[in-house]
Amino acid sequence: MPFSDFHGNAETVHTLREILAYDHFPHALILSGPAGSGKFTISQMVAKAMNCLERPMTDGLPDFCGHCANCVRIAQADALEDRFAEAVEARENLRDTDKKETRIFVQTHPDVMIIPPDPPQMLVKVDQVRHVIHEIYFKPVEGRERVYIFSDADFMKEAANSLLKILEEPPEFATIFLLTDNPTALLPTIRSRCMHLRLSPLSPPEVENYLAEVRPELKPRERSLVARICGGGLGRARSFDLAAYVAARQDALTVLGPAMGSKDHSDLFRATDTYRAGADGKAKTEYLIRTLYSLLEDMLFLRSGTPELVRNQDIQAELARMAAGVDFEWIVNATQRLGELESGMRRNLLRSLALDTFATALEH
Ligand SMILES: [Zn+2]
Repeated sequence: MPFSDFHGNAETVHTLREILAYDHFPHALILSGPAGSGKFTISQMVAKAMNCLERPMTDGLPDFCGHCANCVRIAQADALEDRFAEAVEARENLRDTDKKETRIFVQTHPDVMIIPPDPPQMLVKVDQVRHVIHEIYFKPVEGRERVYIFSDADFMKEAANSLLKILEEPPEFATIFLLTDNPTALLPTIRSRCMHLRLSPLSPPEVENYLAEVRPELKPRERSLVARICGGGLGRARSFDLAAYVAARQDALTVLGPAMGSKDHSDLFRATDTYRAGADGKAKTEYLIRTLYSLLEDMLFLRSGTPELVRNQDIQAELARMAAGVDFEWIVNATQRLGELESGMRRNLLRSLALDTFATALEH
């Protein structure tokens, strides 16, 4: 799995490899970019290249072998979501007193530590940063560089202040990665002490190429749809459940049916009746609401003469018919009502009833 396996953002990858070629990698690096642009993947690749025992070169720049002891152990954290879930579960199984004092880390190699946001608040906590301070000044054990990856650099205030202490006096042999989709949320004093590289979202054709490799079972038409729905996020595209999406979209179209002139409401009631109480019903309803938003947005693109932005291109003809039957004001009003529906759901209203009310309120 060398650098050439990274999809998109070729210039940023090249820059990172050039910096690797000089022996002084920055002590702290902000990698910003939208979800799925590969911030974590590329940080892991850099961690491997720093510590690879074989240190291969490709195109005259440092790479990593992917099979030496260090590469293999670092790669065990590539599936970060799985490792994170294991760490959270391990904490759940502790005695209550220990649970309170245990923070979440993912570490599969002694010199590479991943610091995910700590649940339930999903923020980096001061105890996590203190743990980093405690060990970052020790020399690497089995590699050449210690690497600390804050996989979602969203800090509690005290944690951010602690991090600043490390950034003011970083050890020679350590690199801190701060991954974020919103770099402006970081303290200016942190930003000013870090080098900053940006990853852009991938274009739909880039995502389609990637999908052709990793999900060959998808037809070209389906790949194109997934690429557009996922908005350039590779991670999301890789695991995107197309069947579930198409089912939710069918329900969303049914909910919009009355507004589009359908007089018989039996389809509507049959569809909304499947949105029940409980956690499953909650997730299903949230997904339906997100899908409704995306349909309304596509209708807006069609009305405003920017059809190239439509995401649900496979049903564009149907969406165009729907868009032609309403005006701009209707779309704005529907979006507002959808927002009300969404906040109502949080107060746990009867879901199917709320959906029926939403659907019929949009009738002309
Ligand atoms: Zn290696």
